[in-house]
Amino acid sequence: MISPLPVKSRRLFTADYVAGVLNGDRSMLARAITLVESDAPGHAVLAEKVVRHLLPYAGNSIRVGITGVPGVGKSTFIEALGCLLCKRGNRVAVLAVDPSSTLTHGSILGDKTRMEMLSREPGCFIRPSPSGGTLGGVTRKSRETILLCEAAGFDVVLVETVGVGQSETTVRSMVDFFLVLMLAGAGDELQGIKKGIIELADALLITKADGDNKRHAEAAQMEFSRVLHYLISPTPGWTPEVMTCSSTEGRGVAEIWDVIGRFHEASLKSGFFQQHRRGQTLDWMRQMLQQELWQAFARNPATRAGLPQIERRVLDGKLSATEAVKSLLSKYSQNYDPKN
Ligand code: GDP
Repeated sequence: MISPLPVKSRRLFTADYVAGVLNGDRSMLARAITLVESDAPGHAVLAEKVVRHLLPYAGNSIRVGITGVPGVGKSTFIEALGCLLCKRGNRVAVLAVDPSSTLTHGSILGDKTRMEMLSREPGCFIRPSPSGGTLGGVTRKSRETILLCEAAGFDVVLVETVGVGQSETTVRSMVDFFLVLMLAGAGDELQGIKKGIIELADALLITKADGDNKRHAEAAQMEFSRVLHYLISPTPGWTPEVMTCSSTEGRGVAEIWDVIGRFHEASLKSGFFQQHRRGQTLDWMRQMLQQELWQAFARNPATRAGLPQIERRVLDGKLSATEAVKSLLSKYSQNYDPKN
């Protein structure tokens, strides 16, 4: 009898991916993510099937977004936190959302060798940012990657992003808890810091609170606590906390996880957790619908042909924007092709 080819070398079907992910097999999880990230037309249908089968097994994790400027200490912190959680028996997935990779085709987050200790932990899975495509594309892939990791039994999902353009807002919209890492300055904490980012935070963490910097970090902690007092919390019933930590000395890492644990418990109890996730899922669906509609519109030969002329007339003041939209939509519906 001819024995079947090992999974590694043969073409995989839906059932292979589903069984592999549900078994918590990290290499199969990686292959499933590669499938979901693929832009090849032939892969889309298979990817959809795999995600559909795994969806009922997803959702059982706490999703934590982590952001901060390059150099703030994200990877050092994630490594310290991830190792701590793995030692406690958690299974930790670390994902990155790096929209800069779509602009520069390089990656701020993914290229350097990072988190070497954590990557050796058997309970950990690290995945760099999907590259190429639009921020919308990266978002879709990252959301589906979270679902796959959860179906594979990871109960902590850490999503790292760097403060470039819209990426914080994007990551905020896919996680339960949002942690903003900050560096202490020399007293002028608020200079150059985007207020908008602080408003998204469920907790602020002042990093590198060791050596001579400890004093500055504590001063920054007081300053930020004062600022947060005047801002509206992104999560009803939760007052964002400001903590300090030293990832290299391992101080403050367990403490911030306690804060996240308290948040998780309180938001589950109040029902906010479930409500928030449902809202995020619906928002995601609507965003995708908008994108798909726009793409279908742009692909449609009739609208594509008419668009430049109509845009010119709007620019010349010969047609109002409202009339232009009406005329384009009517062209689109007259020439609608379900196969397009
Ligand atoms: P990222 O770019 O935000 O991921 O930052 P990294 O984690 O790569 O850290 C940038 C630099 O800060 C590295 O040289 C780290 O060794 C250093 N660093 C990170 N965390 C700490 C810390 O807790 N204390 C000190 N003193 N240095 C740190």
